[in-house]
Amino acid sequence: MKGLEGKVALVTGAGSGIGRATAVLLAREGATVVALGHRQESADDVADEIRRGGGSVLPVSADVADAAAVRDVLARVEQDLGRLDVVVANAGVNGVWAPLEELSPEEWASTIGTNLSGTFHTVRFAVPLLVRQGGSVVVVSSINGTRTFSNSGASAYATSKAGQVAFARMAAVELGPRGVRVNSVCPGAIDTEIGDNTEQRNTEDLGVPADFPEGQIPLTGEEPGVAAQVAETIVYLVSDAASHVTGTEVFVDGGQSLIA
Ligand code: NAD
Repeated sequence: MKGLEGKVALVTGAGSGIGRATAVLLAREGATVVALGHRQESADDVADEIRRGGGSVLPVSADVADAAAVRDVLARVEQDLGRLDVVVANAGVNGVWAPLEELSPEEWASTIGTNLSGTFHTVRFAVPLLVRQGGSVVVVSSINGTRTFSNSGASAYATSKAGQVAFARMAAVELGPRGVRVNSVCPGAIDTEIGDNTEQRNTEDLGVPADFPEGQIPLTGEEPGVAAQVAETIVYLVSDAASHVTGTEVFVDGGQSLIA
């Protein structure tokens, strides 16, 4: 029997990158996956891949920054699937990287709204389902949430990622007595589309190295990691193999955070 047979797992940002690799792997492990995409099209796309592999999936769409939309998704999970065992709060954006005085309050709020408030909404509305039988949450943060790297202009991003870690620790303490584990995964540079959607504005003024993160990963040198490596760690954390692991951060970064 597969490790997650009979379980239901929600993955946000499931349409691409780390979320997609995680959704596919959770399904392969036997979970019924609720694949939440920002757009229905991307959720349907990963759902096709999961079904082709013989897995079970419910594709849904929502903007995780929109509390009511996330609440509606969780209501649908309860109605259609009747339970929820695993939550992977992964949806995120790099947003705008710029010198502090050039970052607008709207740009700040947008990054915090998706990455941090989106994580809160996802976990907040999942809790009533998770505590019924116990479960596990993984928050996809970043090495940027716990380490300070080059002068990159990523103040909003790094703050959102640090906030996610603090939130996950608080949730672990609060939900532990109710049988729910909560951990963070902190990826280093991973080869996904997220960089394509970063707006860098005047960061050269801050001295951002043009070749970042080249040569800064002890395990691979210039090669970033791949989404499947993060997915494997997430699946470990939600599995029974991690039954005594909660409130911690697992770095999936090839050692990048040690020297960057
Ligand atoms: P990605 O761009 O492929 O995936 C992000 C996903 O989140 C996309 O599918 C996107 O549509 C979705 N998304 C964005 N805003 C959303 C919203 N408001 N509502 C719902 N969905 C939304 O990039 P990725 O690298 O797979 O990123 C996944 C997570 O990993 C992010 O939280 C990111 O911060 C984190 N991370 C990535 C790296 C990296 O190097 N790729 C490093 C550290 C942390």
